[in-house]
Amino acid sequence: MGRIRRLMSDRLEARKFQAPPLEIICCLCARALPKSEQEAHHLIPRSKGGRETVLLHRICHKKIHASLSETELAREYNSIERLLMHPEISTFVSWLANKPQHFYEKSRKDKHFLVSKVIQPEVPGEMVQWIEIEAVYSKEVQRIDWHDLRNQEEWRQGWV
Ligand SMILES: [Zn+2]
Ligand SMILES: [Zn+2]
Repeated sequence: MGRIRRLMSDRLEARKFQAPPLEIICCLCARALPKSEQEAHHLIPRSKGGRETVLLHRICHKKIHASLSETELAREYNSIERLLMHPEISTFVSWLANKPQHFYEKSRKDKHFLVSKVIQPEVPGEMVQWIEIEAVYSKEVQRIDWHDLRNQEEWRQGWV
């Protein structure tokens, strides 16, 4: 009986000490970074002889290269600390901080739309029903009933 008890508690101990799976986070925005979103950024560009890389979200990586030239990266912004001091990048990171944890996924699909056209009713004086919206990312246009915009589950007004 005693022996059985001991074995069981050993097993409990073993479970307790199992390390939780490590969560990889983005070096720039410090949010969870799933494998499908990982991109390696050379702190000093490869073209300038840099070797050290950090893992970032695709959108975070894009932001860096959209804001800085290779020369600027090599000379001035060759560390995460320096990158976070860059005004555009720090604005981007704080803007991202208020986004849902999985915002990176949304940003890859069409989630942002602008109303590009209000379809005038065929019969003059009738209420407007249809509008055309254009996807910010793919520029695809689709026609929807504007009343659908009131469905809060599907649409959020304003810029998310
Ligand atoms: Zn990130
Ligand atoms: Zn890079």
